[in-house]
Amino acid sequence: MLAYLDHHATTPCDPRVLTAMEPWWCRQFANPASRLYRPALEAAAAVEIARGQVAAALAMPAEAVIFTSGATEANNLALKGVAEAALERGEPRRGLITLATEHRAVLDPLAWLSRHGFPLTVLPVRPDGLLDLQRLADALSPDTLLVSVMAANNEIGVLQDLAAIGALCRQHGALFHCDAAQAVGHIPLAMTTLGIDLLSLSGHKLYGPKGCGALLRRDGIALAPQQHGGSQEGGLRAGTLAVPLLVGLGAAVELAMADQVERSARLTGLRDQLWEGLERLGGVQLNGPQRQRLGHNLNISIAGVDGQRLHRLLRSTLAVSSGSACSQGSPSHVLAALGRSRLQAAASIRFGLGRDTSAAEIDRALAAVAAALAELRQPL
Ligand SMILES: *Cc1c(COP(=O)(O)O)cnc(C)c1O
Repeated sequence: MLAYLDHHATTPCDPRVLTAMEPWWCRQFANPASRLYRPALEAAAAVEIARGQVAAALAMPAEAVIFTSGATEANNLALKGVAEAALERGEPRRGLITLATEHRAVLDPLAWLSRHGFPLTVLPVRPDGLLDLQRLADALSPDTLLVSVMAANNEIGVLQDLAAIGALCRQHGALFHCDAAQAVGHIPLAMTTLGIDLLSLSGHKLYGPKGCGALLRRDGIALAPQQHGGSQEGGLRAGTLAVPLLVGLGAAVELAMADQVERSARLTGLRDQLWEGLERLGGVQLNGPQRQRLGHNLNISIAGVDGQRLHRLLRSTLAVSSGSACSQGSPSHVLAALGRSRLQAAASIRFGLGRDTSAAEIDRALAAVAAALAELRQPL
């Protein structure tokens, strides 16, 4: 049986979320924008309940929530939306700052903006993946429009010091966007306390359905819509609302928040057990920090083995990833930013534990890696 330890790529949908979504497909299918009859008003009310659930998770008012198709779209709306709105009002600030270890869904829209008149600074990280705050302080200037730093990294699980980053942004009058796709529903986050102005999240990373997410926006932050064609979401995101998915997103956020602290504590225990077992195999190097990381994340490189052969040996027992699932073939830009070589990046394993992960699965994972290493380290 395959042990699924790839919860950073996606999580299974919680059966309770599926139950919440069920009525909104075939029976209560009305379009929430058709406000003249009761079923449509009921659909609109269901979306508003979901909006309240998502907002509450980040300690924000319901008006802060803009529903999207996922975190990729939320990031695009946040980054391009802020830049375009700044252009429109003649704002002189143009500078953008981010980290080398961000997700492609942040790096690519920012790279696009840098080709369209918004100078981009990509900051390196320390060997453990944490941002050196002095580097950010040095990069910030009166020209800085926005800083984008993720809450939890999807490969190495590193948790950046969001409160300190938020405070630095505030000092310099720059906006702070945070891709929190790997953090919401896993660790407590309060947007305003941390000084976050814009925050992206995704349904399928927190035991909800794929194809839904949200951008949360602090009151007063100007945003230009990136999709036109209707007045949904206050004109900021045109298109018929995906009622079943959004109902599912609301339920998933609420359910994930409810057990995040105890789930994280339990998975931290299993993760530490996995790490101790792997360390005993020898030649195993931790990617990312020892402590300041998601409890359900572990990322290692194994010295002196061929990454392709390693993953070929693991794939019938373990669903894990090598580098990032999104950058197949090319070495992970996150591991490269930590100073890992191509070979070290290829011979890396990302473990993402989840709600259903058992101690027996951790034992199986350990046994599978041990067997693979025994084979790969055999003298020819
Ligand atoms: C998964 C992920 C995304 C993309 O989210 P989608 O909802 O799949 O578009 C963006 N950022 C991070 C950090 C992620 O882990």
